[in-house]
Amino acid sequence: MKCPYCSQPESKVVDSRDSETGEAIRRRRECLSCHKRFTTYERVEAVPLWVVKKDGRREEFNRRKLMGGLVNASTKRDIASAQLEVLIDDIENALRSRNVTEVRSREIGEIVMQRLRALDEIAYVRFASVYRSFQDVAQMRATIEEVLANPPGTRPPDAPRRRRKRADERSEPALDIGK
Ligand SMILES: [Zn+2]
Repeated sequence: MKCPYCSQPESKVVDSRDSETGEAIRRRRECLSCHKRFTTYERVEAVPLWVVKKDGRREEFNRRKLMGGLVNASTKRDIASAQLEVLIDDIENALRSRNVTEVRSREIGEIVMQRLRALDEIAYVRFASVYRSFQDVAQMRATIEEVLANPPGTRPPDAPRRRRKRADERSEPALDIGK
């Protein structure tokens, strides 16, 4: 930490205390060369979580944006905004606890939809219609029929598949030997 007056690197801490908001530590330092005093602040740096969009662009995970989408989908439904906050908290905690810096937007969308589906079917269909960009009523009907066929609590058939290919499947030669 260079002294702002004489640029010498050595200083000693003469006082240290938390800032008023508790988000920073304020340190009063004294330069060992010129003996002038200056202040430094130490803050915890929030680790950004990047969302990789379909087109490959990245943007920071934005709670407010996700909340906006959920509020729209929940219009006139019996869902308290506190429930949506909890939903977003859970998702954000789950993503951050992975200790990765990037998540695909598609993955977040699928997690949100699974959670929303358990909360309210109408909100789920609305969110899905925006998120999956339904092009026509047939796609919406397919989603609704799928909800009716698989009531909340059951696993929707189009949930992200966790199944991994076995090693021997992957190494199978792509040859058509014509039986
Ligand atoms: Zn100095």
